[in-house]
Amino acid sequence: MRNLSGPSNRRNILGLKIDVDTYLGMKQGVPRLLTILSRFGFQATFYLSMGPDASGRAILQLIKNPRFLKKMLRTNAGRLYGIKTALYGTLLPSPMIALSFPELVKQIISAGHEVEFHAWDHRRWQDELYRRSVEWIEDWFEKGVQAYRTLVKKDPSSFGAPSWVIDDRVLEIVQKYPFRYLSCTRAKKPFIHEISGLMEIPSNLPCFEEMGVPRGVSTILQILKDGGMYVLPVHAEAEGGIWDKYFIELCEGVRSTDFQILPLSKIQALLKSEPLPVRKHRMELLPGRSAPCAV
Ligand SMILES: [Zn+2]
Repeated sequence: MRNLSGPSNRRNILGLKIDVDTYLGMKQGVPRLLTILSRFGFQATFYLSMGPDASGRAILQLIKNPRFLKKMLRTNAGRLYGIKTALYGTLLPSPMIALSFPELVKQIISAGHEVEFHAWDHRRWQDELYRRSVEWIEDWFEKGVQAYRTLVKKDPSSFGAPSWVIDDRVLEIVQKYPFRYLSCTRAKKPFIHEISGLMEIPSNLPCFEEMGVPRGVSTILQILKDGGMYVLPVHAEAEGGIWDKYFIELCEGVRSTDFQILPLSKIQALLKSEPLPVRKHRMELLPGRSAPCAV
């Protein structure tokens, strides 16, 4: 895999993009990850889902998408996400995710990490974006960014789309907010989104969910041997849950390299002086995923 930086930049840099998609991921995964990160002295960028956890709606997807079922079985989703999570938004009401834990949001920030905007309703975005109206998307951003402001007391600097799903309407709407950069794709290198003019800092390493463990650990460490600038996608539900020991193993592996761990805003600052290509994203089905991602 090629790295994020051009030949002019030989520094080895790794960003940790930690997505929080569920209530349990916030409640249990985030504190666990904070403990692990502090042990290693790594600073990460947390992309939080603010609003309802409608994870249970994923069950509806099983019926419609055989690839999704395969992924759920491979990743042992029952253990990974828990039985209650599997029912939120269907038999159980959807609890709010970050909005339920204002103190925990403060704790993330006071530990030196960054908090950015991931979602209002993560599940509905990833399942329904394409058939929803512009008004629905605008309302989703309004609720989500408002919740972010309530919790963090400032504007978000970045948006990372749920499941790396975006379309051209989304790239129009993000311009209404003071985002300085996006992290919405799985492209191999950073670029400028043609529609919004915003910098894209993609997650350009695969995640545990896609490779399984322990293979994920060795695969990621192997890619890092090439050197360069990378962003690793991490999920609070997984690496902060049943796969925590593999995440620790990965952190230990990274610590023994010369990689510098930087939050995404610092990577953005470094990239600002580089000429980046301006282009449109496209959707691609990546190995180990159940639905296409923007690249
Ligand atoms: Zn997510």
